[in-house]
Amino acid sequence: MQLAKPVWWTWDHSTNWTVNQPGKQNMGASNFYGKCGEQFVAEYTRAIRFAAAHGIEAIFIAGLLRDGHGGLDAARKVAQIGRDAGVRICGITGLLAYGGIYYEGDSPWSLDRFLKAHPECLAVDREGRPLVKGFGNGMSKKVRHACGSNAKVRDFVLRSVEWLFKALPELGGLQFETGDTGVCQCAACRKRYSSEAEMISYDDMAELYPKVAEIVLGSKPEAWAVCETYAHFLPRRKKARACFACGMPSEVPALLSGVPKEAHFQWVGDGFIDPKDTNYEWVGEGSGDPPWQAGEGIPDRLRQHRHIMRAHYGTHWSGRVRHRLAIERIRKLCRLSASAKLERISLFGEGSAFHANAEFNYLAGCFFSTHPEASMEAFAAEVMAPRLGGPGLAGDFIEWNRQSEENVLDESIFQKLMAYASRTDGAPQRRWLWLGSFLQSQLWDREY
Ligand SMILES: [Zn+2]
Repeated sequence: MQLAKPVWWTWDHSTNWTVNQPGKQNMGASNFYGKCGEQFVAEYTRAIRFAAAHGIEAIFIAGLLRDGHGGLDAARKVAQIGRDAGVRICGITGLLAYGGIYYEGDSPWSLDRFLKAHPECLAVDREGRPLVKGFGNGMSKKVRHACGSNAKVRDFVLRSVEWLFKALPELGGLQFETGDTGVCQCAACRKRYSSEAEMISYDDMAELYPKVAEIVLGSKPEAWAVCETYAHFLPRRKKARACFACGMPSEVPALLSGVPKEAHFQWVGDGFIDPKDTNYEWVGEGSGDPPWQAGEGIPDRLRQHRHIMRAHYGTHWSGRVRHRLAIERIRKLCRLSASAKLERISLFGEGSAFHANAEFNYLAGCFFSTHPEASMEAFAAEVMAPRLGGPGLAGDFIEWNRQSEENVLDESIFQKLMAYASRTDGAPQRRWLWLGSFLQSQLWDREY
């Protein structure tokens, strides 16, 4: 059986491997960086240490190149620390949105700077207004979108990827996406779209992904080129329009088949693995797509490629409360990915392993990717019990998390929890105390 190895996905601004750090953020995409710049290398050094110790193959970083935390020099440093530790550091970039290759700063390879200098290259909405929008929270920046039909834009995108691997030779690869917050509605783009495209465009992907992947793969033989799809690879059965985290429209495998077979496609698992995991509006809810079943694999046209299945478990994206325990969902993610012969699974690695639930989520990704047929009981006995102070204790740890998630936590558990904590010391004690605080915080938020 093919084993799907674990990798991590991160945004620089909400990666907090130091617990007490002013300016840290616990959510978001495309935010400002809140910490002092030196902290960027410190955070990722810690993340790399954990990844190296537990067999996490790679860490992907959105916002890798940002003036506010050291720009190119800091990115090179992090990539080299990763190389030295055996952890591949890869960038994450938007090609037509999200700031481009140089995410934020005074660089000729900043898409924002390019679009300010060339306003004719901006994408437009249906009314012809520039497509500039954010995520609507106080931390997220406005995202300038580029027109995917514009020859100047296409040239800029490809040259910026060429520059990246020359300037940052330590980089292990690049995940790229065209943008999922709106696409250009100019006449040329609308004529080019093979189906209605509002938030994402598979035609933009088909245009850019093969060329970008060739540049990445040509930069050095071992580099990874990862094409984000925003979808599960299962065919979409209900919704006709392209949407995030739905199934894939039927025309997509043919559209994307021009990507070099050495490249990866990255898919979204979330609601297809746990249909109940629909408590945020952009995953699963309303798609009506049935869950992914063991043995349901990659469509023929894309079977030669390499594949990553990504999920947002344990993050603010999947349950609104960061650091929810998600080991059962991660177990299913690994088992289904192995059954579909995928090469990798991807989880968010933004939270420090100080948070015991985050630590167990990470360890679940490592354990079940190595043992995809193993049971929850095996994970509890082999991985959790030694870290909680002895056999038989993991059941309560899992059950109390479940009760908290379902808002049915019995407050009498805290006597027992404190007894567990008092019987242990060191790291096991820290895990119980952390859980006590986490559970209490849920009660506080609900009842105060
Ligand atoms: Zn356009």
